[in-house]
This record gives sequence, C-alpha cells and structure tokens, in this order.
Amino acid sequence: MRLLSILTLAALALAAPAHAALNVVAATEDLADLTRQVGGDKVKVESIARGYQDPHFVEAKPSFILKLAKADLLVVVGRELEIGWLPPLITQSRNAKIQVGAEGYLDASLTARILEIPTGQITRAMGDVHPLGNPHYWLDPGNGRRVAQAIVEKLARMSPGDAAYFQARYAEFDKRLAEAEKRWDAMIAPYKGLKIVTYHRSWPNFAERFGLEVVGYVEPRPGIPPSPSHTLDLIAEMKRQNVKILLVEPYFDLKTPQSIARETGAKVLVMSPSVGGEKPITDYLALFDYDLKLLVAAIQETGAK
Ligand SMILES: [Zn+2]
Repeated sequence: MRLLSILTLAALALAAPAHAALNVVAATEDLADLTRQVGGDKVKVESIARGYQDPHFVEAKPSFILKLAKADLLVVVGRELEIGWLPPLITQSRNAKIQVGAEGYLDASLTARILEIPTGQITRAMGDVHPLGNPHYWLDPGNGRRVAQAIVEKLARMSPGDAAYFQARYAEFDKRLAEAEKRWDAMIAPYKGLKIVTYHRSWPNFAERFGLEVVGYVEPRPGIPPSPSHTLDLIAEMKRQNVKILLVEPYFDLKTPQSIARETGAKVLVMSPSVGGEKPITDYLALFDYDLKLLVAAIQETGAK
C-alpha cells in the first residue's frame, strides 16, 4: 500500500513538467523583461547579457551554457548583435530545441522595424558591427510592442493551453505602454528636432521615435574606437550645429567624450540603452521613464534647443 502511494507520487512528479513553466533564456535583459511581461508565471526567464554590458561584446561564461542547456526557448536580438559571443554558447549547450532555426529559437528582430539597413555590398572589412542594419531597435517602444507580440505568438505555439493567458497579458502590457507613451511624448515634445551626438549608434530608433536628430558619433564607425582626426571633425561639426548634448552608453570610456565636451561646451550624459543598466531601470517601461527624465534634465541644464 505504502509502496503504491510512493509510486503514485513518483508518477505525479514525473507528469508535473508538462504543466511547468517554460524555461526561457533571453540574450538581453530587455528581451527578458518583454518575455516576463507577456509570459507572467507561465515562464521562467533568465537573461545572458547584463544591461550595463556592451551587448556586442559579452564575455562567455560556463554558466550561460548551463542556462541554455535547459531552455525551451531562446530569444535573441538578432541582426548579428550577439554574433561575437552567442553562437558558440548555443552549439555547446547541445540543446536541439534552441538551435538556430529550431522551434525554440526566436529572432526578435524579424518583426521589428529596423533602421540603417546597408545597401550594396556588406563588408566587415572596416570593422562595422552593424552589417545587417541597426540592432538597437528595442529603444523604440513601438518595437517593444512588436517584439512582445512575436513572443506571445511563440509562447502560444509552444504552450497552446495558455494562449489566452498570454494574449490577455499582452493586451494589458499594450495598454500600459500606450499610456506611458503619452507621458513620454509630453515630456519630450518641447524639444522636438533637438540635435545630439552619441558615442555608439545605439539610439537611431530612440531618436526617430522621440524627435531628436543625431548629427554625429564619437565612434568613426560602429565598434571602432575614436580616432584623433574623427574627434576633431566631430568637434567642428558640433560647434557649427551648436550641439550641447553628448550621449554616452555606460560601458564606454569617458576620456574622449569629456575632451569633446570641454571643446564644445556640451554636456556628457551617460544614458543606459538597456533594462538593468541602472538600478532604477527594473523593466522596459522604466527604461524610457529613466532615460527621458535624465535627457530632459540635461537639455534644461544646458539650455539646448
Ligand atoms: Zn551597436
């Protein structure tokens, strides 16, 4: 009798995983949060790159392989953002479910609006890390919405019994995002057309969405460190166009930005492009709340217009 009940319990325990949450690994904290927003308690989500790291260059750790080995779904930014570190981890995970092209592999860029898609021959000869268009597309909330939708469709296919749950979570997220967009538009509206310079090309979607004009970059090309001649050209251009805001991602050296700021009277503003980049940026909506507040304060401080 006792043996039978132990066997019954064991059978129940074995059956349990069928109803367990899906294990999701996201390449970045932004995608991890979007997955949590729509997946709720039907998903267990972990991310690989931390929000304060340069997502192009992430140091591979054995723990990442373990995460990937037990994943049902892998969500990636795509456009070769992770080309320098993710492919070997996927291979080494030996997890057939999440290999490129498998059912458990989701390239979030496929439904997003991508800017700066190169025309003509694609070459890495110059060290360009954006050969397939700009991969920092999550910085437009419209793309956050599109990616969340793609994640819902994928989760619903993998767990059809929960499809209605995921759809309801998406509808709720969509509503909160639309309300937040009204708030963000009101904050930034007075500064439409403001000219800025950024270190890396992380912000074209953000700039387009919020009406800013990026007139130059500290990097001569994406992924190439600043050179003296390019820096001199940039300083001249910033003076000519009276640019007072220089955005720098948290993982870049501030030496060149600060010398540019000294020459031009611009303010160096360190702004996080990702969830988790700063403590208060706990989710996707908080990312825009935090960044736009910083940006508006900097604009007001410099009197930039
Ligand atoms: Zn980039």
